[in-house]
Amino acid sequence: MKALVKAETAPGLSLMDVDVPEIGPNDILIRIRKTGICGTDMHIWNWDEWAQKTIPVPMVVGHEYAGEIVEIGSHVEDLRIGQRVSGEGHVVGHRSRAARAGKFHLDPETKGIGVHIPGAFAEYLKLPAFNAVPLPDDIDDELGAILDPFGNAVHTALTYPLVGEDVLVTGAGPIGIMAAMVARHAGARHVVLTDINQDRLDLAGRIADITPVNTAKEDLMEVRARLGMREGFDVGMEMSGAAPAFAQMIEQMIMGGKIAVLGIPAKPIPTDWTAIVFKALVITGIYGREMFETWYKEIAMIQSGLDLRAIITDRLPVTDYKKGFERMGEGSCGKVVLDWG
Ligand code: NAD
Ligand code: ZN
Repeated sequence: MKALVKAETAPGLSLMDVDVPEIGPNDILIRIRKTGICGTDMHIWNWDEWAQKTIPVPMVVGHEYAGEIVEIGSHVEDLRIGQRVSGEGHVVGHRSRAARAGKFHLDPETKGIGVHIPGAFAEYLKLPAFNAVPLPDDIDDELGAILDPFGNAVHTALTYPLVGEDVLVTGAGPIGIMAAMVARHAGARHVVLTDINQDRLDLAGRIADITPVNTAKEDLMEVRARLGMREGFDVGMEMSGAAPAFAQMIEQMIMGGKIAVLGIPAKPIPTDWTAIVFKALVITGIYGREMFETWYKEIAMIQSGLDLRAIITDRLPVTDYKKGFERMGEGSCGKVVLDWG
């Protein structure tokens, strides 16, 4: 089968022939139709320090996908050949305290497909049946392929109650934009989305009912005054991994405000703990998606009218994967989806 492989310890990926994976009794085999390129895949493409430390070579990469079940392990019940699925890319163990308590997203033995074990940028993906998420008819393959990053947005956004709240989202990457969309859909009052990249803010302003703010040019205090917000933001979602954005968020929160942090800083960042203490802020780190409550909620939100489609800005056949990674590198696009035929 064709697959996108990190074949050498160097930047780039190769589209090459590899063996179709053999499934075990508890697995399914998925014929991949669409895949999304994630920021993580960009790290692997660029072969940065994190990738060099983390990715065994050779490795089939990719973890955002949708496809159709073509084979089922002998112990698998409740799934059938021909069924359309997406699925969780975090493969968990069943031994840790968290896993045995049903909090699978907190399992310390988690392995990532396309990171630690062979991934979804391939004609066929082997997946534990446990990880599969059947797609309803009203969620097509390209939406199915972005349920993983949308799930990051949903998991973060639904950490705290949102109805009537003023929300600050820092970082208008694809996940930040989707998180802002969720905040709007879930009943927030004002949703302010910041970035320093005007292209990203323009995209966000076009496709979501939010207030985009370029913090390189505009002062958030003035934005607050314009919106009639006196004391600060009630809920914060950090989606940039950028130190100045996190500092700004702490500064802009109301007393007792609540922050969920998804963004991953490249290195440890200086943090104003005094402000955190005196403002009595609540801060929660967010990793992945809750299995499978996040998947339930995100599908339900799309079905109840959250229109996600416009976050997909680039659609390419997999043979044009280099163009896709180039688009991601430019940093002005939304989601890039590759078609596997
Ligand atoms: P992205 O890199 O596409 O977007 C980040 C955005 O932040 C960019 O548009 C960038 O211009 C913006 N930014 C940079 N400096 C800023 C500043 N000072 N103020 C405001 N915005 C600023 O990332 P993404 O794919 O949307 O993902 C969002 C974040 O979530 C990334 O840090 C990613 O690594 C992280 N992530 C975490 C998990 C997890 O499980 N915790 C999963 C997926 C992604
Ligand atoms: Zn990802």
